[in-house]
Amino acid sequence: MATYTGRFAPSPTGPLHAGSLVAALASWLDAKAHSGQWLVRIEDVDTARCLPGLGRLILQQLADCGLVPDAPPVVQSRRSALYQQALDQLIAQALAYPCACSRKDIETNLRAQGHTSERHGELIYPGTCRTGLQGRVGRAWRLRTDFYASNKPLAHINTARAAIQTIANNDTHVCWTDRRLGLQQQNVPAEVGDFVLKRADGCFAYQLAVVVDDAAQGISDVVRGEDLADNTARQILLQRALGLPTPRYLHTPLVLGANGEKLSKQNGAAPIDTTEPLRALNSAAAVLGLPGQTGNLTDALATWIAMWLRRYPIGP
Ligand code: GLU
Repeated sequence: MATYTGRFAPSPTGPLHAGSLVAALASWLDAKAHSGQWLVRIEDVDTARCLPGLGRLILQQLADCGLVPDAPPVVQSRRSALYQQALDQLIAQALAYPCACSRKDIETNLRAQGHTSERHGELIYPGTCRTGLQGRVGRAWRLRTDFYASNKPLAHINTARAAIQTIANNDTHVCWTDRRLGLQQQNVPAEVGDFVLKRADGCFAYQLAVVVDDAAQGISDVVRGEDLADNTARQILLQRALGLPTPRYLHTPLVLGANGEKLSKQNGAAPIDTTEPLRALNSAAAVLGLPGQTGNLTDALATWIAMWLRRYPIGP
């Protein structure tokens, strides 16, 4: 088997709750089941939303549950130079361009083109600044997502890496196979549009940071909540633009809050109670379809690892 490296990448916007523990447990089980390394990355790139000290709290909560990373955690707020380097590469390849549009500009331009389309509350960027700023001042940086269709030659594309399971693509769709959800596809230019790499407030966007870090940390397998599945096509597109390998992906079921939406701090998710770690882990395991365990933590985790391996083997 090729070397397995997995990761859990929490944003320190709140303590670990029942929903985030599911992703943590699943990524840990997958790494252990495949004799891999499990890393933790604190994703505090959106500095305004992150609270100081929470990274440390999350690591403590994980450790209380027996989930200990195999290397010191990396912290995104200390890695801006790497993200800037990737952005510079995309600019040099003419795949990133500055954008002067405010949300209002985007709305006005979309209306002028007869579109009202929104996606998860996000406007599909109409490409206004692709052809230049027309004397306006650049605020953010965006990825040119139509580079397949435009047949731009891309440097250092590496599709030979063993970790790539299925990536078939035609000119417009990114296709990938999720280990739980099966075949997925997305027409990024049409369904998402040219997305932001660096925001107007100077923060690097999640999409760029996650792609740079997954590659820099040699991540072979991304295991995370299903709410993030929709980002995967964007991330694969960016990996290709930067000539980086594509990991395997597995998206886990979500814990829903009382309002039927994904459990989050906003809809009342309470921090997990780590005075009884097995209780918290049993709830997370139930979401993953694993039976509850009694007894000690180590034995419970070992039982789930064996079950996980049978459920999610990694092919040759
Ligand atoms: N930091 C992201 C979150 O907490 C997860 C990113 C990822 O796993 O790709 O939602």
